[in-house]
Amino acid sequence: MFNVYEFFNRINEVRPESRLDAGQPDIPVRREIIEEAVESLRRGETGYTSTGGIRELRERIAEFEGVSTDEVIVAPGAKILIAAEIASAKKVAVVSPHWNAYSLIAQQFGRELEVIKTTLEERWTPRVEEIKADLLIINYPNNPTGRVLSGKELRGLLEVAEENGVKVLSDEVYAELTFTRFTPARELYENVVTVKGFSKLYSMTGFRLGYAIGERNEIRRIRRFIESTVTCVPPFVQRAGVKALELREELIKEVRRVYLERARMASKMLRGFDFVEPEGAFYIFLRTPQNGMAFAERLLSRGVAVFPGVAFGDYPNFIRISLSGRGLKRGLRVIREELECALESRATEGWEGSSRGVSAEGSR
Ligand code: PLP
Repeated sequence: MFNVYEFFNRINEVRPESRLDAGQPDIPVRREIIEEAVESLRRGETGYTSTGGIRELRERIAEFEGVSTDEVIVAPGAKILIAAEIASAKKVAVVSPHWNAYSLIAQQFGRELEVIKTTLEERWTPRVEEIKADLLIINYPNNPTGRVLSGKELRGLLEVAEENGVKVLSDEVYAELTFTRFTPARELYENVVTVKGFSKLYSMTGFRLGYAIGERNEIRRIRRFIESTVTCVPPFVQRAGVKALELREELIKEVRRVYLERARMASKMLRGFDFVEPEGAFYIFLRTPQNGMAFAERLLSRGVAVFPGVAFGDYPNFIRISLSGRGLKRGLRVIREELECALESRATEGWEGSSRGVSAEGSR
């Protein structure tokens, strides 16, 4: 299995000028948040906390999520909460292309993976009639495609989950970064655990702060997993989280606007090539005229880092471009040049088709 973290380490060694690879937001963490963490440390808040998170943070989260406090659990990042869910399942279904960590975690726990493949031609919309797994992972806004399902599309998928008695893990870490109407899965189906975090909207990746929302028994079960593995989130990180939530509305407006502008700019610069214009998050999943890994290597040799499509499942002819890294404009220019160059050399080699023929570009 392709390990994206190994490729990431190699990128770090090469030190490319344009970092369009990882989902590490380049917008700095707000000063107030950092100061709150420092103040908390100075106050001596350095010990263990309650394993589910400090009450104040859970209360704030519950308030804006419209749930009760005991339906919320706080943990060191969204990823460990995803692991808690995967650990509790026998077989896991995932809509693909998908974030690499789902398969890596499933592998760690020895869980079988049922892949629900989607295609660019169908604008990455899942069409499924039966799910054999007992846990379905969905992720909208999607990493890597930038798709957000419409309410109707989401309802269709959740109905299949319900018919098959499948629990849904809805990874909504990009929920606030949407450029279209977004429906949280739990509004449409009862058997949903929602996972969110502070890594994307607040750029707080290194703080390691995430939370899950679910039915009380489910939260209790996740809590046991957290207790028996990572214990709790450091108190000063949770304090920083409380501060971040005070800035939530302001940041949603500000950060969403930044990523929307970048998505528009990137879509314009890549016009004529095959991808779905992002409806949320900060990625573009682009079809490449040649093997995506070879294309990613070629770009790396020109100082542009992206991830190959194989990092997201069986998508060998794609790359993922992150719009959250440094050197974006330059990187996009190089990508366009390389796309044109690859197409040209294919044409001179007498290749019949054209990847431009099935363009989904600009479709929303
Ligand atoms: N879920 C998805 C879809 C992601 O893309 C990422 C980070 O890239 C995460 C979860 C990780 O969130 P956290 O940093 O809270 O563990």
